[in-house]
Amino acid sequence: MAIDPAARSVAVLGPQGASSDLTYDRLIIATGARPVLPDIPGINLPGVCPLHTMGDALAVNDLLERASSSCSAVIVGAGYIGLEMAEALVGRGIDVTVLSRSGRLFPTVDTEFGTAIKNELARHGVHVVRSGNLEEITAAGDGRRLVAHSSEAEGVTADLILVAVGVQPDSRLAASAGVTLGTNGAINVDRAMRTSVPEILAAGDCAETWHRLLQRNLYLPLGTTSHKQGRVAGETAVGRAGRFEGCVGTQVVKLFDLVVARTGLLDCEAREAGFAPTTVETEAWDHKAYYPDASKLRLRVTGDRATGRLLGAQILGTWGKAEVSKRIDVFATALFHEMRVDAMSDLDLSYAPPFSSPWEPVQMASQAWSARL
Ligand SMILES: Cc1cc2nc3c(=O)[nH]c(=O)nc-3n(C[C@H](O)[C@H](O)[C@H](O)COP(=O)(O)OP(=O)(O)OC[C@H]3O[C@@H](n4cnc5c(N)ncnc54)[C@H](O)[C@@H]3O)c2cc1C
Repeated sequence: MAIDPAARSVAVLGPQGASSDLTYDRLIIATGARPVLPDIPGINLPGVCPLHTMGDALAVNDLLERASSSCSAVIVGAGYIGLEMAEALVGRGIDVTVLSRSGRLFPTVDTEFGTAIKNELARHGVHVVRSGNLEEITAAGDGRRLVAHSSEAEGVTADLILVAVGVQPDSRLAASAGVTLGTNGAINVDRAMRTSVPEILAAGDCAETWHRLLQRNLYLPLGTTSHKQGRVAGETAVGRAGRFEGCVGTQVVKLFDLVVARTGLLDCEAREAGFAPTTVETEAWDHKAYYPDASKLRLRVTGDRATGRLLGAQILGTWGKAEVSKRIDVFATALFHEMRVDAMSDLDLSYAPPFSSPWEPVQMASQAWSARL
């Protein structure tokens, strides 16, 4: 596929190899992202898999079905895809080792929560190895299995090596049309999802994302953001005044019996952005403790000491018990509307003993933050 912006046409290769030209009034590029695959010896060996497309998932499944009953897997990368896959593979009875470059698991949340995640992985038999950089993958002596070699650990042998070290924007098509690239090589877009080339728009994992708190574009590829950007790009393409209102970085993940969620900025990110952050952690029951099945939640609230503005929140709780995702969404809504931490107590949130407390845990955590100032 090739774009000719001057002629406003796209050359498309058909199934038989014949090329045909499609002309356009507006063109939306939504080419997504590509998994990052380290440029190291052995990365193309059979049994080394990325996990991005449905095809990748089916290839992993095929490999596992052909592997011996005592199958083992190495997962390179301790982000959400790597850790979700650890859970999925353990569920199939596979022995899993996670290679974590820095030793810091799931770096999208504070280390205080990383430790709880590490304990949860250990409880389910997942080995976590602080590995440094992955340097080489070789075939094992038996010729059937693979060995992952890294800078700070012994080689680890496995039937499958899953590489989940992040994604990069697939902006190659856009770049070939002369479109300006920005953060991390993602397509630079304005709030209407217009690129630098007239009549070409972009949306989703190939494009930059406007961050409401940071008030700048960054690269944060997520399904939630992609859907909104796609809608805005479509509106702009048909001449409506579409505007992407930006993200606040809300994410949630289930890891075995834990749910971890975050929204907004971590303390270190807020400081780097010029705020004066303070982060306070609180523990609260998810619902009234006298009602059966109550479980503890850990909530970390980050606010700006200078203005009292809410900057971010992280929550850790038990899957199937505490409603972590509902609660992080309350913080995400507050962040979207630039609320102060103390104003969280004014929100009229639902309460009955099986669900919450008269002061909902997000309010207790916000009050604990205000009390610490
Ligand atoms: C394993 C996994 C789990 C995820 N879980 C979550 C989650 O829980 N929550 C969340 O918010 N996000 C999640 N994401 C991220 C989410 O899937 C992406 O943000 C979202 O799919 C991006 O949508 P998109 O349309 O921009 O790109 P994609 O969905 O990647 O679609 C891009 C499409 O463009 C096609 N394409 C590329 N180049 C060309 C070309 N030159 N010609 C024709 N077609 C082309 C590609 O083949 C692809 O079909 C996950 C991603 C992965 C990989």
